[in-house]
Amino acid sequence: MKYILYARKSSEDKSKQILSLESQVNEMKKLAHSLGLEIAKIYTESKSAKLPNNRPVFLEMLKLLENNNEAEGYGILCWKIDRLSRNPIDSGKIQWLLQQSKIKVIQTSDKQYLPSDNVLLLNIEGSMANQYILDLSKNVKRGLRTKLEKGGWPCIAPIGYLNDGKGGILVDKERAPYVKQIFTMYIGGNYTIKEIANKIYLSGLKSRGGNKYHKSQIYTLLNNKFYYGVMTSHGEEYQGSHKPIITKRLFEEAQEMAHKKQHVKKNRLDFIFRGLMVCARCGCLYTASKKRGKHIYYYCTNGRNKCEEHKSYLKEDEAIKMLADVFERLTFPEEMINLMYEASLDKLKQESENQEYLRTKNELSKRLKIREDRQAELFNLLLDKAINKDDFEAKRKTIADELNLLNEELKSLENKNQPLAKITLEQVKNLFLAQQAMKNKFLEAKPNRQREIIKNILWNAEVKDGKITNIKFKEPYSLFAKDPQNGSLDLMWSLKNGFPTL
Ligand SMILES: [Zn+2]
Repeated sequence: MKYILYARKSSEDKSKQILSLESQVNEMKKLAHSLGLEIAKIYTESKSAKLPNNRPVFLEMLKLLENNNEAEGYGILCWKIDRLSRNPIDSGKIQWLLQQSKIKVIQTSDKQYLPSDNVLLLNIEGSMANQYILDLSKNVKRGLRTKLEKGGWPCIAPIGYLNDGKGGILVDKERAPYVKQIFTMYIGGNYTIKEIANKIYLSGLKSRGGNKYHKSQIYTLLNNKFYYGVMTSHGEEYQGSHKPIITKRLFEEAQEMAHKKQHVKKNRLDFIFRGLMVCARCGCLYTASKKRGKHIYYYCTNGRNKCEEHKSYLKEDEAIKMLADVFERLTFPEEMINLMYEASLDKLKQESENQEYLRTKNELSKRLKIREDRQAELFNLLLDKAINKDDFEAKRKTIADELNLLNEELKSLENKNQPLAKITLEQVKNLFLAQQAMKNKFLEAKPNRQREIIKNILWNAEVKDGKITNIKFKEPYSLFAKDPQNGSLDLMWSLKNGFPTL
């Protein structure tokens, strides 16, 4: 019986315990000599055995073994069984060849695998090898997470930053100003993302290949918290130790702008009440069209094809007037409003103190602490003469800048925390106390706003013969409507979470 020697080492086999290809071949040659085995062919390759069918030399060897029609099969010499396979597919192929006696024996430096008794063993060791790979990738993931938790970024730096080659992230002095500019342009609201992509390209920001960044890349940039210091990986957020390019506030303003833009797109309607009124006769939704380029008329879509109502129309101007009257049907006992107002205020206070505010404040404080520690460290380095004066000055300045930025952010966070929300609530309260004011406000509101208000307080209004014949208030407005079946006190208390704003 002749033997085939197979040796393998991949670049990821960093362990010193794994011999080089040359040593593996030498070892096995020595073994063959001492056991008196004849080596017919030597295969060597530098490839990982992690993925199946990934090793051309290995596959070539399998082919040779499969096509071997001689009465005698081959034996295989390899240093360790995991040199042959590290994945279940390749292991399975080896086992199958063993069972068919195409492989007579596998001889490793310390074991012998025969078709008769050791097939299972190969299987087990094969799956161990497989487990080893799973562990390895788990270790890699764990390593990444550890790095993230320490504030490091284990991936390619986003536009505006550079990888320093030692695992750290540096501000790309050339491109960082463009990043800030992109945010500023966007929150101004005057440009679409596509226009920003064009303008920023013309003002000098180019990809590494000298091309324009695609609008999708600008979009990604605008949504990347990395720029104010937060790293996101697999749905988790980590506090980065890199220097922020923008403030969190700027980032949030961009988010608000994105939200606003979406909203405008959605509500770019010609017809205020489309989809908000139904036909009292057949229940179909009302739609609208413009007549003589000016007046807007609403009418039954006649979806069931048997409604006579579609011959009558409701003018938009009249619909607005009729709907404005619904405010006269709302009464707000002052005492109730005050109670609800107090309850809402309490809740608001709790919320703003407990959640986002504290979390952000904590985050900022943590980051401040990191910088302060670094500053102290730096002074020690200078005292120990481990750093020269120039380096010290440069580093000190960077840290000082970061500290300023963080302090500024902290201050603005504290400023905007409470009063704003309180003012809004106050306004709502006053609004509720004055029906007439509410009615006028509705009449004076812009079409989009009128639509929003009606949608907020009413279920679909019923229309018949060109008149609004029936309306139904949504909660909590139904509680205040002049209607005997409304006004349950219990329900009201369950709605303590405040008024949906008008
Ligand atoms: Zn109808």
